[in-house]
Amino acid sequence: MAQPRIIIVGAGFGGLAAAKALKNTPAEILLIDRANHHLFQPLLYQVATSVLTPSQIATPIRSIFRNQKNTTVVMGEVTGADKDQKCVFVSDADRQNVPIAYDYLILATGASHSYFGHNEFAEYAPGLKSLADAEAARNKILQAFELAEAEEDPARHRDLLTFILVGAGPTGVEMAGALAILVRTALKSDFRRIDPTSARIVLVDMAPKVLGPFSENLSKAAKQRLEKLGVEVRLGHGVDQIDAEGVVIAGERIPSKTVIWTAGVAPSPAGRWLSVETDRAGRVRIQKDLTVPGHPEIFVVGDTASLDQNGKPLPGVAQVAMQQGRYAGKLIHNRVEGNPPPSPFSYFDKGTMAVVGKGFAVLQSGKVQISGFGAWLTWAAVHLQFLATSSLRLSVFLQWVWTFVTGQRGDRLIVNHHGAELAKPAADAAIKPAFAGR
Ligand SMILES: Cc1cc2nc3c(=O)[nH]c(=O)nc-3n(C[C@H](O)[C@H](O)[C@H](O)COP(=O)(O)OP(=O)(O)OC[C@H]3O[C@@H](n4cnc5c(N)ncnc54)[C@H](O)[C@@H]3O)c2cc1C
Repeated sequence: MAQPRIIIVGAGFGGLAAAKALKNTPAEILLIDRANHHLFQPLLYQVATSVLTPSQIATPIRSIFRNQKNTTVVMGEVTGADKDQKCVFVSDADRQNVPIAYDYLILATGASHSYFGHNEFAEYAPGLKSLADAEAARNKILQAFELAEAEEDPARHRDLLTFILVGAGPTGVEMAGALAILVRTALKSDFRRIDPTSARIVLVDMAPKVLGPFSENLSKAAKQRLEKLGVEVRLGHGVDQIDAEGVVIAGERIPSKTVIWTAGVAPSPAGRWLSVETDRAGRVRIQKDLTVPGHPEIFVVGDTASLDQNGKPLPGVAQVAMQQGRYAGKLIHNRVEGNPPPSPFSYFDKGTMAVVGKGFAVLQSGKVQISGFGAWLTWAAVHLQFLATSSLRLSVFLQWVWTFVTGQRGDRLIVNHHGAELAKPAADAAIKPAFAGR
């Protein structure tokens, strides 16, 4: 009898865990992702702030499954699914919407940015979701210092060296802290006309506190730490406007050439592909066995799924995606083998952490709430443990030790994949190169 085919869409945290759980299943597994790498998103901000290189937080999916013979990796973009015909449609550079049939389907397609209905902000305030986003943010940040160094009018330095982060959740807080350390350490002695430590870093959120999901005490500790690092924290007002000149917050314009969006996320369009019930955010409502109602062969896991536990929706974090992916894999394995199903899915919350600058983190796990160096050590150990391969663990560990001891950063290259921006005439005519005419 032919083996069943299991299609997993997405090789992020959820998809990877599902595929690994199916290692010994007598089935044909197709793991489809639009990228050729698994990305460790929690460390994207470290690429954006020059601590790590892209290759230190991403691993080719193919190499992860080198020894898992029942799994074939396909690089392609899934554009839709037909749940009645039991197939997904896949496009790549050569072919469009090719149907591929499945017996079981796991959708683990994650989330993308949400600009809360202001998609026009995207042009001026890129988000942080992919390696390309992180490299683009790093380019933008480093380029701002280069432009300021070349600018002869000191009055313009302030605008060029104002960095605005919209969204004071874990990503915004971690990014603001890392940026503050970058200007104080690695960049401090490298410029002659500008003082990088004078950079203004503004973290904005309409919420009344930073790190929304954390307790009041930890949120306060994180805010105090940010302020100690010189970050201006502006809470209680969202951004009204973002354009080429900067942002407007509560009627006040803050000129800036570097605005980064670290606020909302929107789920992938999996709900639209399946035409099934979604929550208000657009995430697919799933049952306790992670399947879609009426379709015991379709599982949705991770950021693109919506499941309540103890009356509250599970958060969009890596642990949820991994535990759900593992569960979906196990359930399918049991079905294929004719074993009884596992008991309904239950998320085990191991805790939440966020780093604020060098050697300081906040950690919340059940009743345990700690902040400071101990929390930072725990954060570092946990993140190293969850990197995809041992070579990445070693490489990131050594880089962190080096950065901690010397203050030096791993990757401060401006790599422009779309042509040499700096070689073009300045987009803003007001910015005159200081060396013109000399
Ligand atoms: C900057 C940042 C920092 C974060 N920090 C933390 C943290 O500190 N701790 C924490 O627990 N969580 C953190 N998260 C959240 C965490 O990364 C997500 O919850 C987790 O990645 C969700 O896993 P997933 O498998 O659902 O989706 P993802 O890991 O996003 O994977 C989705 C995969 O699907 C692929 N894909 C999407 N659409 C398609 C398509 N149409 N066709 C083919 N492939 C497709 C993508 O390429 C991707 O590989 C962070 C997220 C970000 C962006």
